[in-house]
Amino acid sequence: MTEHSEARVVAAIPDAIAAAGGLIAGGRLVAFPTETVYGLGADATNDEAVAAVFAAKNRPTFNPLIVHFADAEAAFRTVAADGRAERLAEAFWPGALTLVLPRQAKSTLSLLVSAGLDTVAVRVPSHPVAHALLEASGCPIAAPSANPSGRVSPTTAAHVAESLGGAVAMILDGGACPVGIESTVVDLSGDQPTLLRPGGVTAEDIEKVIGNLETAGSDGEAPKSPGMLERHYAPGLPLRLDATEAGPGEALLGLGPGAAGATLNLSPGGDLKEAAANLFAMMRRLDTPEHEAIAVMPVPERGLGRAINDRLRRAAATR
Ligand code: AMP
Ligand code: MG
Repeated sequence: MTEHSEARVVAAIPDAIAAAGGLIAGGRLVAFPTETVYGLGADATNDEAVAAVFAAKNRPTFNPLIVHFADAEAAFRTVAADGRAERLAEAFWPGALTLVLPRQAKSTLSLLVSAGLDTVAVRVPSHPVAHALLEASGCPIAAPSANPSGRVSPTTAAHVAESLGGAVAMILDGGACPVGIESTVVDLSGDQPTLLRPGGVTAEDIEKVIGNLETAGSDGEAPKSPGMLERHYAPGLPLRLDATEAGPGEALLGLGPGAAGATLNLSPGGDLKEAAANLFAMMRRLDTPEHEAIAVMPVPERGLGRAINDRLRRAAATR
């Protein structure tokens, strides 16, 4: 029970939900119940808060996160919904279905929620606590399952407190999750709707609404099909890793106090959470015809540095 008090497990009464909404809006992390599993929530428009989610989960890679909205209208203001998306939303939202759709150019979501993809996974949860938290925070909430990487998803507040208690500002206790397995993830970003992860809504029910669903090989954690990986953001310019200085025509992406000459610095103080928060946005800013290539200074292979290096290596190899 000690972990519980440390982690501030709070019964999800209206006052607690209002406080949790304020914490999320202020950039903190809150674990909360949804109908599928408990989520580890952060303001999806706040790069640093989203980076803190990856840090808390201790993931070696930046897997894209599901972004939760209070209603379909709010979701479809930030991703491009077509007729299929609208029919699925009509049939299954609020509920255990996540749709992967192209990000709209005007979207204010952190680039980190997409982990470098040009798509966003969006969902409207039906759990009353999740819904009330979305209303209280006033922002979309990025929330992966509230477990450390490689562990099973939590379906009670106690599960969260045991494994992630130290990383969150508050755990809202709304009892056991009624569905208890993750949401079904359907990729609608291409012509062929693809099942990326089986979950709370069955493939058969989805096919009744939009027809044939193809199945992508997936371990339920990472988009596996080559098509998915190809869409990972890679700069148009060549990327040179482990650089000590900029060569002719190169922009230098630095890290830490030693990177005084860098064009941009991921974190002048060398903070890996800040570096993760800046990674995708800074790569995009340097990827202009003004430069011939992007040289990236070494990133330490620890904590979030592992995920940053994973993405940098992929971006360098994609060309
Ligand atoms: P979790 O957040 O732990 O429930 O896992 C989220 C699932 O959604 C993972 O399987 C992710 O790979 C998948 N996912 C999230 N965003 C995207 C996206 N933009 N494209 C493809 N899959 C995604
Ligand atoms: Mg998970």
